[in-house]
Amino acid sequence: LSPELQSLKTSLEERGVKYAIASFVDIHGMCKAKVVPLAHLGQMMSGSELFTGAALDGVPQAISDPEVATMPDPDSATVLPWDSEKVWFASDLYLGDRPFDACCRSILKQVLAQAAEMGYRFNLGIETEFFILKETEQGVLPVSDLDNLAKPCYDLQGLLDNFAWVSEIVEAMNQLGWDVYSFDHEDGNGQFETDFTYCDALKMADRLTFFRLMVKEIARRHGYFATFMPKPFSDRTGSGAHYNMSLADLKTGENLFEDPDDPRRCGLSQLGYQFIAGVLRHAPAIVAVTCPTVNSYKRLVPQGSMSGFTWAPVYICYGNNNRTNMLRIPMAGGRVECRAADIATNLYLGAAMILAAGLEGIREGLDPGEPHTENMYEYSQAELQEKGIETLPRTLSDAIDAFAADPLSKTVMGPLMFDTYVDFKRQEWEDYHSHISDWEIQRYLKFF
Ligand code: GLU
Ligand code: MG
Ligand code: MG
Repeated sequence: LSPELQSLKTSLEERGVKYAIASFVDIHGMCKAKVVPLAHLGQMMSGSELFTGAALDGVPQAISDPEVATMPDPDSATVLPWDSEKVWFASDLYLGDRPFDACCRSILKQVLAQAAEMGYRFNLGIETEFFILKETEQGVLPVSDLDNLAKPCYDLQGLLDNFAWVSEIVEAMNQLGWDVYSFDHEDGNGQFETDFTYCDALKMADRLTFFRLMVKEIARRHGYFATFMPKPFSDRTGSGAHYNMSLADLKTGENLFEDPDDPRRCGLSQLGYQFIAGVLRHAPAIVAVTCPTVNSYKRLVPQGSMSGFTWAPVYICYGNNNRTNMLRIPMAGGRVECRAADIATNLYLGAAMILAAGLEGIREGLDPGEPHTENMYEYSQAELQEKGIETLPRTLSDAIDAFAADPLSKTVMGPLMFDTYVDFKRQEWEDYHSHISDWEIQRYLKFF
């Protein structure tokens, strides 16, 4: 064992850890893993754990193809806050001595390396929205009893009633050093959000991946279940995962998106505007990844019936501190928020796509035009056309077509992941599209 690894192993032993988890993600961003007793940490860290690529959703590996190995990142060591006998590691997948083409983490690392070559570090903060529900004899119900409220947003009673498990999540996040700065009851009954300090995008992708696992575990321990489905209820807001993005100087750490003298008065630098323009140019392909499911597109609508606006974006545009735009420059400036992302996002792939688009905007010196300060939900189709504002894809099918047609997608993902993603998501759409829903039966069965 190297001295670093030996000291990691010793400190884990001292903390009572017995098992190490070599975890990686599939195209959905879900954890897959093998577990080894801590005595085998050394082997695990050098790639002893093998997986057949053919077992991964969508990856067209032949049954007899060589196996892929997890190469765990020692910096990602995370002792499970709810079970201190186990330590989790985020891993890259390797095929022989090089990263496996369908490894999501390696795909992000490649784009981060391009940013680093340009002198940038990509900082990312994710706002985590999710529902906590309970299974009852009356069916699935929200944990908070706020159905009588048209707007449960920020409801204090709803938060206090659930404080036992919410605070367990918050304390677990802080125990891991994530620095939660705020949490609340969100706009859907049973919907919560926990916000924590941004960090570099790779670490954030590891954290969000682990976060979903952790919240599910903690909710289960309280007799509930957590869902990261983007839009579980048609009459409540969906669960976003807004990407809060900035580029910092790799050497000094200075935020390069900040400009108090911004003539557009959003507190954003020219570099920030170029980044925005790149993201807008590739928005339809990006959302195929940041809004990855059939259900994701049911969130991207203006009205959420009883709670009014959904605060989810519909059009490809940017604005100042205006939540009806796809990209928002929050009031303090210095960062760009992408709202066209939901909590089912595979952050490795989503961050890779959005960063690559932003870097293209910088390389080409693009300009996004003036920010939209109006309520974008109120425009008619004719007005939008006049202003040249395009609509985000309305369905997964449209999004995947846009993804497939945009050359950026294959550049970022590489041919294997590109084909895997397109084929898998088209099939997902076909499965959905061939299903006859309750809505159709109610609307048409007796009508026609
Ligand atoms: N839940 C909203 C969404 O789907 C976001 C609400 C907010 O701005 O926090 O994106
Ligand atoms: Mg929110
Ligand atoms: Mg936000």
